[in-house]
Amino acid sequence: MAEQRERRKIVVSAGPTREHVDPVRYFSNESSGRMGFAIAAAAAAAGHEVLLVAGPVSLPTPEGVTRVDVVSALEMLAALKSALVGAQGLIMAAAVADYRPVVLHKGKWKAKEGDGPVSIDLVESPDILATLAKEPGERLVIGFALETSDGERRALEKMARKGTDYIVLNSAAALNAASTTVTILGRDGSKVVHEDRPKEWVAERLVELFDRTQA
Ligand code: C5P
Repeated sequence: MAEQRERRKIVVSAGPTREHVDPVRYFSNESSGRMGFAIAAAAAAAGHEVLLVAGPVSLPTPEGVTRVDVVSALEMLAALKSALVGAQGLIMAAAVADYRPVVLHKGKWKAKEGDGPVSIDLVESPDILATLAKEPGERLVIGFALETSDGERRALEKMARKGTDYIVLNSAAALNAASTTVTILGRDGSKVVHEDRPKEWVAERLVELFDRTQA
């Protein structure tokens, strides 16, 4: 007989955010959204109710997933906050742009009209994961940490600071790639390494973490 899984409402974020300087220019990053979309697909395939909040990416919506598209970090925070109502899980795979321009020019910014170097004042965006992990309610919270050095120590520090149950450590090689090497670190002291696995396979392992926790 097939194992009976408990159906949860799981919220997933994916992709980059864009922080606009003007209508046609922005700060962003290399995130393709593939990991987050793979997680959303795996969670829906496992029978969960899945709400995917996606930054600007060109990926099809996985079957059985409800998708909300956003552009900026502030929009992502607002969309995730309302998505989280009644949810038992948050997996934050989005690569949120940490800073945004203080001024958003309504028309195209004419930087070249002045002399000398040009500068753009930036302000830090809220840490969405840390903010939402503090929201009232019982839920499993999983974050990601992309590190280029001293990964495990930095990932553990992030898990503690942001208040997540698990943190998925990966490297820049995961950006835009089909496969990834991850170390899944748990607040319970657990550590599992998966070397060079397709993102779809890693996504299934992350969704399985829900089977080990009480709804
Ligand atoms: O600090 P760092 O960006 O490495 O943290 C990564 C984790 O925190 C990811 O899960 C990412 O989605 C989340 N994050 C966030 N809001 C930010 C920056 C990162 O939720 N402003």
